[in-house]
Amino acid sequence: MKPKKGKRSGARIAKGRKQNVTGSRKTKASRKSSKPTKPAKSAKKPAKNSKRAKPAAGTHRKSSALKPASSPVLGRFDVAIVGGGPGGSTLAALLRKQGRSVCIVEREKFPRFRIGESLLPFSIDIWKKSGALQKIHDNGFMVKRGARFVIDETLEEECFWFKNGLDKDHPYAFQVQRADFDKVLLDHAAEMGTKVFQPLSATSFSAGADKAVLETTGGRIEAQVVCDVSGRWTFMSSRQGQRKIHPTHRKVTAFNHFTNVVRCEQDPSNIIIVRFGDTKMGWFWLIPFSDGTTSVGVVADAEYYRQANLSAEQFLWKSIKESRAMEPRMRHAVACGEYRSEADFSFTSDRHVADRLIKVGDAGAFIDPVFSSGVFLSTKAAELAAETLDSAFAANDFSAKMFQDYEQKIRSGTAVFWAFIDAFYNRDFLKQMVTSRRRPLLQSSITSLLAGDIYNMDNALITYLTGQGGAFADEEMKALVG
Ligand SMILES: Cc1cc2nc3c(=O)[nH]c(=O)nc-3n(C[C@H](O)[C@H](O)[C@H](O)COP(=O)(O)OP(=O)(O)OC[C@H]3O[C@@H](n4cnc5c(N)ncnc54)[C@H](O)[C@@H]3O)c2cc1C
Repeated sequence: MKPKKGKRSGARIAKGRKQNVTGSRKTKASRKSSKPTKPAKSAKKPAKNSKRAKPAAGTHRKSSALKPASSPVLGRFDVAIVGGGPGGSTLAALLRKQGRSVCIVEREKFPRFRIGESLLPFSIDIWKKSGALQKIHDNGFMVKRGARFVIDETLEEECFWFKNGLDKDHPYAFQVQRADFDKVLLDHAAEMGTKVFQPLSATSFSAGADKAVLETTGGRIEAQVVCDVSGRWTFMSSRQGQRKIHPTHRKVTAFNHFTNVVRCEQDPSNIIIVRFGDTKMGWFWLIPFSDGTTSVGVVADAEYYRQANLSAEQFLWKSIKESRAMEPRMRHAVACGEYRSEADFSFTSDRHVADRLIKVGDAGAFIDPVFSSGVFLSTKAAELAAETLDSAFAANDFSAKMFQDYEQKIRSGTAVFWAFIDAFYNRDFLKQMVTSRRRPLLQSSITSLLAGDIYNMDNALITYLTGQGGAFADEEMKALVG
């Protein structure tokens, strides 16, 4: 690939995000969304006689909004999904496999840039189930076999190979440019019979006794259930006032794609994570792609960089130049994209479900990306949401009560990664990670977590980190982990 000249970002990170993450109702795409196409012929009408559910708590509009409205009806579906990222597309494909009528409302034209490029092995089974896996392979994305962690100050390091996890059946994942990857998944959902409205912005939602309604810039969509898979824009939570930024975990990131980056020596397809500085409390990622370019980014404490008042480009390069591990890898690097930044990207929601409403993936919660968990958690949530919806349709009951198990599973899965992330930041756990070769059970337990095997209660590291005891709850581990 011919590298494009790196664009300079003059925007100060301290003055706001380049990507409009929250309150993003006025992005360019949403302002000029074009007229949507007609609904698919395959779209079934929603089932009659559904059990009466009370109007959802936190619903953006009152149920009176369900009276005949003036906006044109774009279609009626079993499930309407906001967002055509990996979570939305995977949910749609899984629901189509169940025979449900589904639509996706996506406000951006694809391909479009998105951060979140290193995937986890435990997503693979889900894409096998949704039918997308072969198409992912056919597109030639880089196969990722492991992750390398480095401590910047001492250059101590270790590679974790997925084939060495507790579960031997998940040896690989992918490194992907999301512009291409998300299009593969969305096209797959469309080929499975999903009606894709794109570009079209969802603007509000409501849930009543007999149906849910999604208002968009082009008209209204009626469905039994509306799923919010809008990513960190948190379509529902923002309107419900339910988005809660993590109070003690405020981070800033800056990133770009580059050519001429020195990749991992053990295997050039590995992701490299370099942790640095206790006061700056941050880390770098280096994610290689199959076209020869590499994604490089830095994450650090928001306060530290707010004081420095740097642009995304300055922030990234200052950090690289101060890093023992990164500077040699980036010495000849040439930027080939736009410098971008985000801030305060860890948050959760008060609730993940309500009557006729489900939040999936980042739309419900997002945790620090150090372990590349975002796409996996969103895809896993899509799988769990599809299962819960299958039961809901069988029972003809779309009340929040029906979705409780889903919410519980989302919370417990997220908690496992949070405990792992806390260990990475707040304790001397990384030291333990990079020296884990001498404790094979610990190393394979870490590897399994890095692969996304988060519901495996046979993994003693999970029970230990989440305070439920286990084989690692010994004095040595307590001293090292906290
Ligand atoms: C610094 C950083 C690094 C990261 N690195 C990784 C990584 O290495 N690996 C990883 O797995 N994850 C990573 N992530 C996380 C990753 O970006 C997300 O977890 C992932 O994209 C979530 O997928 P999703 O489908 O839930 O949402 P998204 O991918 O965000 O998709 C949401 C879609 O909804 C659309 N949308 C939003 N609002 C509306 C609306 N009102 N109407 C219509 N459409 C709408 C958007 O246009 C978008 O296409 C990283 C995140 C950050 C901040």
